[in-house]
Amino acid sequence: PLTVEVEDLVVRHPGAQGRPAVDGVSLTLTPGRRVALVGPSGAGKSTLLAALMRLAEPESGSVRVNGVDIRELASDDVRTLMTGLTQDPYIFQTTLRDNLRLAGPDADDEGLTRAVREARLEHWVERTGWDTELGEDGRTVSGGQLQRLALARALLYDPPVLLLDEPAEALDETTADGLMADLLDATHDRTTLLVTHRLSGLERVDEIIVLEEGRVIQRGPHDRLVTEP
Ligand code: ADP
Ligand code: ADP
Repeated sequence: PLTVEVEDLVVRHPGAQGRPAVDGVSLTLTPGRRVALVGPSGAGKSTLLAALMRLAEPESGSVRVNGVDIRELASDDVRTLMTGLTQDPYIFQTTLRDNLRLAGPDADDEGLTRAVREARLEHWVERTGWDTELGEDGRTVSGGQLQRLALARALLYDPPVLLLDEPAEALDETTADGLMADLLDATHDRTTLLVTHRLSGLERVDEIIVLEEGRVIQRGPHDRLVTEP
């Protein structure tokens, strides 16, 4: 099990004036505890994710995985540890089954037999709320199904840490709510950080961190942060 600790993280974009994009953020990700990072556009969410994936260098503070600073890890190791799911995943122009097969490392490298991979594939497809035939063309299915495909593809190789960057952003509200419920089900035992700018659908998240201008302005469970109308 993996714990990710972000401590007093400050990230400034090269050449940017004024306040750092991430200005002293601390958070802890542990397995099975769902954390959502919420905030308006420009709050620093993407920059924080970039620092977690070692795509942005902190000015100060640290990101530690089980106590080891990610600056001490090889980029390949960071990539294996943390898998992201973005709002617009890349889908190959072929069947959904092929999209899942083409994902990730070679079966031989992983030492997985074809039967094991197929079984895992079926497992994740079911867990993500999939309702599409795997033989169907990836170009013809809905956005919500494509996001489920992208998640199943990410989960196929058991990434210890999942970073979900606005996975429901491109979808209408009903589809988005259904997808979010399925994502939370499928990832309930993972170390997960969900980034979104909408508070809806976050009732089942353990901690919501509200970011504004690079700083945490509020944090806590859903019922403490959201006043129902
Ligand atoms: P998001 O809200 O999804 O992060 P943005 O619209 O903020 O999307 O940013 C889109 C892209 O533009 C990102 O790659 C981001 O790094 C880049 N970007 C955003 N603001 C600036 C800026 N002031 N200068 C240069 N690049 C920027
Ligand atoms: P969010 O993901 O919450 O929309 P970002 O992390 O994209 O926020 O942006 C945080 C701040 O950093 C914003 O002020 C944005 O304009 C700025 N920014 C983002 N990317 C870049 C970049 N590549 N260069 C300079 N400034 C950037």
